[in-house]
Amino acid sequence: MTGPGAAASAAPVLEVFASIQGEGLFVGEPQVFLRLRGCPLRCRWCDTPGSWRLPEDPEARIAAAHGGARREPAWASPFLAATWIAACEPGAPRTVSVTGGEPLLWPAFLCGLRPMLGARRLHLETGGGHPRTLARVVDAVDHVSLDLKPDFDLDEPEEVPGAGTDEPAPRGAAQWRGARRASLAVVAGRDACGKIVVAGGRAASDFAPLLDEVEDVAPRLAVVLTPATPAGGVLAPEIELVLQVAELARDRDLDVRVVPQLHRLLRVP
Ligand code: SF4
Repeated sequence: MTGPGAAASAAPVLEVFASIQGEGLFVGEPQVFLRLRGCPLRCRWCDTPGSWRLPEDPEARIAAAHGGARREPAWASPFLAATWIAACEPGAPRTVSVTGGEPLLWPAFLCGLRPMLGARRLHLETGGGHPRTLARVVDAVDHVSLDLKPDFDLDEPEEVPGAGTDEPAPRGAAQWRGARRASLAVVAGRDACGKIVVAGGRAASDFAPLLDEVEDVAPRLAVVLTPATPAGGVLAPEIELVLQVAELARDRDLDVRVVPQLHRLLRVP
């Protein structure tokens, strides 16, 4: 099932809007964001829990290029989503970041979107829990921003009924380790980065296994450390902790940088 009457390549859209990329390697770049609904993961620092589930008759919020927004039924074909993207661009075509939610729940949509975007770059932001599906779509995107989730900051996943992939989300430390390594193998040598959210109340050594995995599987991958924004009981980290984790990455010869969530600082969506 992909929504009432929806084609197999349709996906439920939560919102489409133009803004400034706030995270990862392309931080600061004006982009269009296509946020899809549905996520089985339960990151404790999640700032978009409204994207997790699919309501009965979901709606998409489509921002207008120069202010204002309208609502449409959420299930969209790649073609329809491309028209929404074009409608919210204030000027020349921008790079499109598909985010979520977990966009990998909708692989047929992602593959169908590529040819609809013309010369625009297509970036994928993923939680990294679906390596088999990532391998299916990776040739359709120009950049992958791959979260390297520390499983100690995750609650039990909840599958999304009707998702367009049959790949289940990882459960527990061992499955997460396998998913991270497999996802790293998919993006190794490609235009990609690995993103690690560093929350407070942890030791730097807690993050060492993630860095070991990058060193082992994708040693040329850029690693972006994102200090967590406090929310839902998650603490912001002391800067000393972030710097210690950066140093652990440098010890492993990794290309590491620290990037705070710029969109929070700028107070843009
Ligand atoms: S993967 Fe993204 S949308 Fe899903 S729970 Fe984590 S932060 Fe939230």
